[in-house]
Amino acid sequence: MTCAEFVDYWNHHLDERSRGDSTVPAEIHRHAELCEVCRSHARVFRVMELSWSPPMMPAGFVDRVLAAHERQAVVISFTDTSGVTAPPSQSYTVAVQSPTRFTVTAPGVINGTYTQVANTSVSNAVTGIIDTTNVIFVSISAHGAKVGQPVYLRFVNNGTTDGVYTVVSSTNANTFAVKTDNSFGTNGSCLMPRFLGTSGGGFTISRGTNATFTTPLPHGLNPGDGVYVNFSTSPPADGQYQVLTVPNPTNFTIVVPNSGNGSQNGQNIFPLIPPPLLRSGNISVQYGTFSIGATDNGNSFSLAQTPLNAPTVFNFFFPDYKYPGALSTAGLTTPEFQLTSDTTVADQMNFLQGGILGNANNTNGLSSFGTGGNNSTGSGTIVLDILPWMTPAYTSTTGGLSSLVDALNSLMCGGQLSASAKTYIINYANSLPAATTVGAMRDRVRAVVHLISNSPDYTVQR
Ligand SMILES: [Zn+2]
Repeated sequence: MTCAEFVDYWNHHLDERSRGDSTVPAEIHRHAELCEVCRSHARVFRVMELSWSPPMMPAGFVDRVLAAHERQAVVISFTDTSGVTAPPSQSYTVAVQSPTRFTVTAPGVINGTYTQVANTSVSNAVTGIIDTTNVIFVSISAHGAKVGQPVYLRFVNNGTTDGVYTVVSSTNANTFAVKTDNSFGTNGSCLMPRFLGTSGGGFTISRGTNATFTTPLPHGLNPGDGVYVNFSTSPPADGQYQVLTVPNPTNFTIVVPNSGNGSQNGQNIFPLIPPPLLRSGNISVQYGTFSIGATDNGNSFSLAQTPLNAPTVFNFFFPDYKYPGALSTAGLTTPEFQLTSDTTVADQMNFLQGGILGNANNTNGLSSFGTGGNNSTGSGTIVLDILPWMTPAYTSTTGGLSSLVDALNSLMCGGQLSASAKTYIINYANSLPAATTVGAMRDRVRAVVHLISNSPDYTVQR
């Protein structure tokens, strides 16, 4: 047995001793008797074995890591060759079909299900009477449609006619009914074009009547198309308007009744045109360029180091560096603290904020450094995916946040987060808006990730 084999044995033994292998083979004993150096090592190993528990992976850890890997996001840039609006160039979560094929979900169209019923009674909220007629009941989560407004509905298969329908009844936020001339019963899936203004859109009114809209995704509208606008604040009045001009894929203009000039966010836009379902073209895919901004120096968002770009053969730390103060006085050599100062700690916090708290407009759980992780331009960056935790079970004030901090403590700190740090983090997250919307749940998870990544327990892991 060689000395290297001796040390190797002990490494494995310490890693795996929790599995019940506590018998030290005779040849290890023989080597220790003959070799003074290894005998000395063995004494340290024995102390470690008696005093220190190996880090155990939390239950389900491997499964979660593999699942996260399968949710891998890539940045796709689309170029349409079919004359239809291309999907936005942005970060997408991939579903892998084969080594040369994957699918993503196109944004900008919400989907649900419908049931078409012949000769049924519906309380028509538009006319105020009970109609006995042919009705399509539509179930789309958080559809945003109001009674009396038109919507474009696209039905998948089953013979129901696609087109513009008027909402005649809506009993809750997730269902509404429209009338139809079709007198047969059927059901299936359906789609509705709609842009939620709160996801990054807004409008500006100039000269009292000229409204210019910005949509978070390419809207696909052309001059002359109909569009129903549910304004966040009135005037202007909610209503059906005709698109006047389309300056670019994410802007369009309409003329509204005389209103005050100014800008607002948060309108809902319902294009009254078929959604762009059949389209084709070219793509370029970036699997991530690992762009994480200024890592060396130069501004307040810096880590003061870039991987594989150390200034000397000693890496970023001089081996004899002593941090001034108590550590130095105690005679300790602390090269790892050469990069740590009041300034670099604040810089690091700002740097991480850039990657975690950016991308304020999306609620898909993805965020990234710089532009190009979720934005429509730029390059692929390291993407953070917090969607699995954006649930009430992880973000509610009662119990949820505690579960969240525990779960992320396992993932990020190997369970080493101190009780007081946990309390601080939970209290801060509790001070944020209640987890009643996807955006609020996202903000709570992001806050917890940010605070854990800035905690001493994360920065200095043992
Ligand atoms: Zn030896």
